[in-house]
Amino acid sequence: MVMRLKLLRSLRRLHRLMEQNPIEDELRGWSWDKPPLRPRAYLGLGVSEVAYRYCPTRRDVYLKRTGIQGELTSLLQEGIMVHKVFHAAVMDVMRELVLGHKGWEAYEKIASSAEARLSELGIDTAKRPWMLDLYKQLVMAWCSEEWAGLFAEYRVDGSPLGLSRNLRVDGLAEGGVVLEIKYGRPLEFHKVALAGYALALEADLEVPFDYGILVYVKNYNGHASFEWDPIYVSPELRKAFIDARDEVIDMLISGREPPKALNCPSSCPFRGVCT
Ligand code: SF4
Repeated sequence: MVMRLKLLRSLRRLHRLMEQNPIEDELRGWSWDKPPLRPRAYLGLGVSEVAYRYCPTRRDVYLKRTGIQGELTSLLQEGIMVHKVFHAAVMDVMRELVLGHKGWEAYEKIASSAEARLSELGIDTAKRPWMLDLYKQLVMAWCSEEWAGLFAEYRVDGSPLGLSRNLRVDGLAEGGVVLEIKYGRPLEFHKVALAGYALALEADLEVPFDYGILVYVKNYNGHASFEWDPIYVSPELRKAFIDARDEVIDMLISGREPPKALNCPSSCPFRGVCT
């Protein structure tokens, strides 16, 4: 669960990691005009295009960039819904608390219209009751703490780093913490993507973003369950993101079509194109 107290406890542990392995200025996003951060080309890349390695040869990025649309798989559709629910819960709690309601009043008001709210988002709660559970769990957690310190879908200009002007960070929390919501199993490159968002925020806002939280949401027997992975955005993660960005830029400006991968994950949206 995404809660303030848990967040503050995680920060204490991450701060110790930072003391042992500090970040040089050259790996801060605001050093975008110098190597190694200065990009070889400005292609407006998405963080996922750079960091996600579902396709071993990066053919998925090439296909997308040549205008080929992948299939909207059921996993992707559910992931989009999870993000919509998270955004709605943040906005609804913030609105009620800013209007001066007590936590319990805010919860009662929001929960009483929860099904209609999700229906507005195109989510059928009769078919997907776990989405209603997800929404209510988030709302209850934040109302119980009277916490409105989370910003959802925060827009960031990543263009100084060769990234998109319209990056969207799932959440920003107090203490300069980047929050990413994930639906599906934990993958190592999610940490690299988190570093990409932290670098873009530093380039855009010129303040440090040292910490992140990966929140994994799952449908567990009809109920939403959460896993929480606090991450220090270390020098190694920052370098991994920059190396991946340079690799994707080199591949795209070469114009060469990457080969089909030998082992394609069953969830790849481009299976219908490549096979
Ligand atoms: S189907 Fe295979 S080769 Fe094609 S993009 Fe997906 S993983 Fe890559």
